[in-house]
Amino acid sequence: MSARIIDGKQVAAAIRQELQQKIAALRSETGIQPGLAVVLVGTDPASQSYVSAKEKACAEIGIYSSDNRLPAETSEEELLALIDKLNRDPKIHGILVQLPLPRQISESKIINAIAPEKDVDGFHPVSVGKMVLGEETYLPCTPHGVLQLLQRCEVNLSGAEVVVVGRSNIVGKPLANLLIQKAPYGNATVTVCHTRTRGLRNHTLRADIIIAAAGCPNTITAGMVKPGAVVIDVGVNRVEDPQAKRGYRLTGDVDFAAVSEKASLITPVPGGVGPMTITMLLFNTVQAAQKKASHAR
Ligand code: NAD
Repeated sequence: MSARIIDGKQVAAAIRQELQQKIAALRSETGIQPGLAVVLVGTDPASQSYVSAKEKACAEIGIYSSDNRLPAETSEEELLALIDKLNRDPKIHGILVQLPLPRQISESKIINAIAPEKDVDGFHPVSVGKMVLGEETYLPCTPHGVLQLLQRCEVNLSGAEVVVVGRSNIVGKPLANLLIQKAPYGNATVTVCHTRTRGLRNHTLRADIIIAAAGCPNTITAGMVKPGAVVIDVGVNRVEDPQAKRGYRLTGDVDFAAVSEKASLITPVPGGVGPMTITMLLFNTVQAAQKKASHAR
């Protein structure tokens, strides 16, 4: 069997087009333009490129973005003061603080300081609590992106055995929580595996759907996959490659070549889950502006 490849770029482009139309309608009906504040502390090259990609994506679909770049030695008080200012700024509907933050700043203090109605990353405890309770809220972007890929590829989740490999607060845990919800994107039977799991293969072999978010190449090999399974690779890993221009290439957590001979559907890296993450950030920002508009009515 040779798997159908899920084209994350194509799905992301379709969602961005839908969002562009929503933004145009919102602006003409209410005069409100969705606004996202992006906050970056320090000069980490990966974080800089993520932030620039987010700002570019905003501009492409008509979201106003405010760029807030602060030096690495910024204090917690200074960052809290900026968050407070952005919380009160009527042009800003969503606030994204690029993680990780420098050591002197507590990430949880900063996340807690973001007004829940502007928490478009979905990391605030209020958003997390609502998600677990199945209430309407901003869903964290990467797990939401995975759900969108599954839904738009018409993967039947109801009753499906899903194995999530990874239990981080930003990917594994929220994904598992979403997949068990009594909702169209849920109703799955979920097993969460992690570094203390015994016999990972015994779990993955049972899975109708494997979601790999371990951050380690070749965590999922062909011998761990049931024929016909759906395989979603969230991992993004840099592997040395002297032939590549930059001296490295990106790879996921799945042995793509071998697993695609066994799976029915598979996401590539790059070009699978990655393009969906920023797209769901745009989605949440539009949702925030729409909420603001409906409260103003
Ligand atoms: P993390 O390091 O916080 O968590 C990794 C998890 O995987 C841990 O819970 C650990 O217990 C588990 N794990 C690691 N090795 C394992 C193994 N061999 N067997 C079983 N479990 C194992 O990472 P994260 O932030 O959740 O990210 C995971 C991966 O997804 C990374 O490669 C990251 O770069 C990528 N990522 C991609 C996107 C995207 O937009 N594509 C977004 C977020 C994260």
